[in-house]
Amino acid sequence: MSADLFDLRAKVTPQALMVLRAVAGVRGIDISTLARDILHEWAAARLAEAAAINEVVAAPEVECEVSLRIHRVALSGAARKALYVRDEGICRECRMTLDREGPWHIDHIVPVVAGGTNDDANLRLTCAPCNLRKGAKTISEVKAA
Ligand SMILES: [Zn+2]
Repeated sequence: MSADLFDLRAKVTPQALMVLRAVAGVRGIDISTLARDILHEWAAARLAEAAAINEVVAAPEVECEVSLRIHRVALSGAARKALYVRDEGICRECRMTLDREGPWHIDHIVPVVAGGTNDDANLRLTCAPCNLRKGAKTISEVKAA
């Protein structure tokens, strides 16, 4: 998470800075306060998504939850960025173009709960709805697919 937040800060473009300054001016707050608020909102949304995935995937087999969390945390910000570039910023399920700043997900083609690894060949870029839809399947359905 901290690596992702750092990446987000580093990627602020001059255009984004102009927008931030304008919004901060309208709200009568300084730009760093506004940026912090935006980062907090973004982080809260990411945490909520991660929690939702853990709940739906881990629910049928509680003992899988721990390894699932370890695998997801192990994927670094740099690895996620490389996958975004490799998959050309397009959801590999529905072909939707995904904003670099998110939200988007890294999908395990073979789910972690079914023995899937974090190898590049087992990972693909998806939009949040496509990945959450897959996560909502029971483990037996995922194995059968
Ligand atoms: Zn999609």
